[in-house]
Amino acid sequence: MIFVDRYRKDESGRDIRPPESWFDDAVEATELAKNERSGHKWDRNVYADEARLKPALEKLFFDKCAYCETKFLAGADSDVEHFRPKGRVAERKKHPGYYWLGYKWENLYLSCPHCNQLRKDKPRWGDPRTLPSGGKLDQFPLLDGAEATRAMGPDDDIYEEATLLIDPCYDDPEWYMAYDPQGQVLALEDNPYGEKTIEVFHLKRRKLRDARKVIMDFTIHFLEKIKEAKSQGNEDAVGFLEELLEELLSASSEYAGVVRFVLNNSAVFLADNS
Ligand SMILES: [Zn+2]
Repeated sequence: MIFVDRYRKDESGRDIRPPESWFDDAVEATELAKNERSGHKWDRNVYADEARLKPALEKLFFDKCAYCETKFLAGADSDVEHFRPKGRVAERKKHPGYYWLGYKWENLYLSCPHCNQLRKDKPRWGDPRTLPSGGKLDQFPLLDGAEATRAMGPDDDIYEEATLLIDPCYDDPEWYMAYDPQGQVLALEDNPYGEKTIEVFHLKRRKLRDARKVIMDFTIHFLEKIKEAKSQGNEDAVGFLEELLEELLSASSEYAGVVRFVLNNSAVFLADNS
C-alpha cells in the first residue's frame, strides 16, 4: 500500500475527478440517503458509475487496487469500495452505516475483489492448507475503547474518530508496513494500525505474498546489478539501471510499496541475498 494524493493532477495538469454532472447527481443522491437513512435504496449508477466515476478512480489509483496495489490488467474486475461502509458497520451493530458518505468522492476507493469482499485464501502448490477467509466488507474498526468517537450521523465529525484502518489517501502507509524476504507484509514494530489494516484487507493472502515476492526479487537483482556496475566504474550501465529502478519505484508500478521498502532497507536485503 502506498500514499495516493487524491487531489493530484494527470500528465496534462487536469484534475483527476469525475465530471461536475456526477457531483450534481451525487449531491442529489446524498440528500435522498440522508432523508431515508437505513431505508435508502443505494443507486449503483451513481456510487459505482461506470462512465463518469470509475475512469476517474482508475486514473487516480494508477489502475491498481488502492490497498494491495495489484494492477487491474485487461479483463480484471475492480470494485468501488466505500472506505467508511455505507449501509452497516460490522463492529457496531446498531450503526446505520455511514449513509451520508455513500456517494462522497472522498469516501470512494478502487479495490480488487480480494481486498473488498470475503474470499478464501486457497491452497498453493506445496501448501495445501485452505486458510480462513478475509476481506473488508463492512468493517471499519476503531481503536480499542474508542467507540464513543464513532460518527453516527452527518452532524458528527469523522475526523474525530479514532480510526484503525490506514487510509491510503490520508496516511502514509509506508510508515506502518514492512515486508519480510518472502514478500509477506508485516506491521512495523507491531503497530496496531498496520496490524488491523493487514487483517481487514486480507493482505497476507498467499497469492498476494507470492506476487510481491516476484517484484521483491526483481528489485534485489536490480540493486545487485547497480552495485556491480558501480564497482566496475560502468557509468552508462549505472545510469540505465537507475532509470529502470526509478520506474519500478513510481506510484504507477505494481507493488511500489515493496520496491520502496527494499530500497530503503537495501543493506538488509542485499546481505540476505549474498
Ligand atoms: Zn486489493
